[in-house]
Amino acid sequence: MMHLISKKIVTLATACILLSSCGQLQSEKESTNINSSDPSITAPAVTDTNSSANQTGTDSTDSEGSPSNNVQEQEPEAAPELQYHINKAYNVVPNEEGINKKVVLLTFDDGPKDQDMVNGLLDTLDKHRAKAIFFVNGYRVKANPNLLKQIYDRGQIIGNHSWDHIDLKKENAENARKQVEDVQQIVEDTIGERPRFFRPPFGSGNDQLHQIAKDNELIYMTWSNGSLDWDSKNKNKPEAVIQNVMDQLHAGSNILMHELPWTVEALDELLTKLEEKGYSFVDPRTISVAPEAP
Ligand SMILES: [Zn+2]
Repeated sequence: MMHLISKKIVTLATACILLSSCGQLQSEKESTNINSSDPSITAPAVTDTNSSANQTGTDSTDSEGSPSNNVQEQEPEAAPELQYHINKAYNVVPNEEGINKKVVLLTFDDGPKDQDMVNGLLDTLDKHRAKAIFFVNGYRVKANPNLLKQIYDRGQIIGNHSWDHIDLKKENAENARKQVEDVQQIVEDTIGERPRFFRPPFGSGNDQLHQIAKDNELIYMTWSNGSLDWDSKNKNKPEAVIQNVMDQLHAGSNILMHELPWTVEALDELLTKLEEKGYSFVDPRTISVAPEAP
């Protein structure tokens, strides 16, 4: 009996030692590399991609191919708590003290276009256990409803990027509303859920568009870290896409990317680099309406 008790004590003591050394390691890890928040790099450009996103939809890059082997063993996911919001500079920030600030939001615009590219993005996101918002255009969803379903079924988040990818600032209220609401409808018809996020094409909006988003309970955002993957000078240059994001990296970065072959190719290395810098990927489902909405 005594023997058994003392054995238990030894086991307990060992467990304590192990636990405390783990804790130390963890806090050491966390203490490195904090504080890369640079509020100066926040101004969202007013140039989303345009036709450049349409150029060469061909998948020259199948290289991300299949890191998907152990994708299946994802643990069942609980309904996520609302912990973050999008601030006026379109950064992702915690709703209250004590929540990790050192996060980035991953977004992919202008799809869904292409099975191989969608697979590549999804596989890499799974590999890094990351969630992203796919801001889709209605006309693309209409052409590729199955791609939308795949994105959704694999746990990623669908956002509204208007039906036609036109400059909504130039449209009258009725047209602009239709551009937004038709996407709400086709997404709901396709996956059974309406988007919670809206990003205007080219980042171009006005009060009218903010109101339309609000009427549809959409959280409005442009971005705060542009990968410039849409820019022709970065075409076929995954390294440039990575560099552009890393150059602008700050806590809460809302990273604008597109469904483009060189972005698919860049993603694995980009996410690895972000992780190495100590950043986590925000689950978009934890993003709420801003506490004091305008
Ligand atoms: Zn776009």
